[in-house]
Amino acid sequence: MQLRIHRFIPYTNAEGPGKRACVWVQGCPIHCKGCGVPWTWSFKGGTLVSIDDVFDWIMESKATHDIEGVTFLGGEPFEQAEALAHLGQKIKQTKLSIMTFSGYYREQLDTMNKKGTDELLNVTDLFIDGPFIQEQLDTSRPWVGSANQRYHFLTDTYRHLEANIEQMPNRLEISLSQEGTIQVNGMATPEQLEKLLKGL
Ligand code: SF4
Repeated sequence: MQLRIHRFIPYTNAEGPGKRACVWVQGCPIHCKGCGVPWTWSFKGGTLVSIDDVFDWIMESKATHDIEGVTFLGGEPFEQAEALAHLGQKIKQTKLSIMTFSGYYREQLDTMNKKGTDELLNVTDLFIDGPFIQEQLDTSRPWVGSANQRYHFLTDTYRHLEANIEQMPNRLEISLSQEGTIQVNGMATPEQLEKLLKGL
């Protein structure tokens, strides 16, 4: 089974609780106005990779960077729910946690009958749902960009965060590769980003 991914990030501290690997899938039909990653919309872009390869990368991250979990984001993860659920089942056997984003609301997913939806939710510890709504821009909460987006604690793994989630800071992570390219993870308004990158 294969996944179409935009990129794989071996570790980051900005896409969920603790240090995590990120599987950034390619393809999103939702097209939110103001989406920060429109290059992940195309279902023809990105790279096709086998689940086994992605799993191997994750195990390498676990060994090298001591990650506590994996985050699935996009793009729209539930457009590839079946493949991500398979990958998630393998990941869960290693005791890593799973966080999954969706631009669909949970209620929408329940009526869409996308193959693998229940299985993907079953392996997910922390689920964040809802599209980015530009008019409700709010980067004050962790990992989300607009006020409509919701946190669902589907297992006990991160339930201890639930009561104080609104007080947790959002993070922005900027890394510079050896080749000189800049990679940004996390949430910020375009104005905040412009200000930050100007200083680099
Ligand atoms: S769901 Fe996410 S990736 Fe898709 S358009 Fe909205 S913000 Fe962008």
